[in-house]
Amino acid sequence: QPVAIVCVGMAGSGKTTFMQRINAHLHAQKEPPYVINLDPAVLNVPFESNIDIRDSVNYKEVMKQYNLGPNGGILTSLNLFATKVDQILNLLEKRTGPDPENPNKKIVKNILVDTPGQIEVFVWSASGQILLESLASSFPTVIAYVIDTPRTASTSTFMSNMLYACSILYKTKLPMILVFNKTDVKDASFAKEWMTDYDAFQTALSEDEAGNAFGGVEGEGAGSGYMSSLLNSMSLMLEEFYSHLSVVGVSSMTGAGVDDFFAAVQEKAKEFNEDYQPELDRKR
Ligand code: GDP
Ligand code: MG
Repeated sequence: QPVAIVCVGMAGSGKTTFMQRINAHLHAQKEPPYVINLDPAVLNVPFESNIDIRDSVNYKEVMKQYNLGPNGGILTSLNLFATKVDQILNLLEKRTGPDPENPNKKIVKNILVDTPGQIEVFVWSASGQILLESLASSFPTVIAYVIDTPRTASTSTFMSNMLYACSILYKTKLPMILVFNKTDVKDASFAKEWMTDYDAFQTALSEDEAGNAFGGVEGEGAGSGYMSSLLNSMSLMLEEFYSHLSVVGVSSMTGAGVDDFFAAVQEKAKEFNEDYQPELDRKR
């Protein structure tokens, strides 16, 4: 049974470049994936996709016709596309399953999904939810949350990014892999350390004067009063969150870490079948 990998992340985190990298990796392994582009606004897709939202909705026309700005245009395009979700699933099931007329046909093992640059349009919209739920009802589905590592190196951006990832886990209720991308620019070891060693994060916090970074007043640093107790509570919550995640560092530029990523996908797909699937079935 194929695994669906859905790439989400802030605009510019490198989702599309990451897709291109893992797509090339699978091709090199002679395991071509089934590729879906859900970003209606992208100009160039640097990989060949089997389903492209741009083939069925014209984002520029949608903007013009409904008098919308860029975000509204993306959202409406996604809504229009989501009305075809049945056709898409049919296509997916046909293409990823065995072919009775051609028993030698290779069965697709991975479905890769790229999402719009603006993460909230996908994660917090009804159509995004519909597309995700439909995928997850047919295939083990994992979220690859792509992070711009060099841009998340301060404790405050790191904390914000982790809280956002946590909210997405809570919203999608799907297993998640944190993909620390761009490790060619900045190594992800600091992030892994902060996620496993509470004291290391505390130390980094006081060094970063997190109180000020969070908009606190002078003297209200991480070590004192309100900020300190807020950070402590958040850290406890995040510790619980971290324990449910796989974390990998990759460079979509060089390809470093891609094997680790696929190992994490296997692990999370297993988790999907054991934990998430029964939950989904129970709700249906
Ligand atoms: P998306 O908006 O999340 O789809 O991001 P893109 O894939 O379009 O990438 C945004 C920018 O980050 C581009 O300029 C990419 O070349 C750059 N980028 C992506 N991955 C990497 C990486 O691993 N290393 C470096 N140095 N740059 C990267
Ligand atoms: Mg993109």
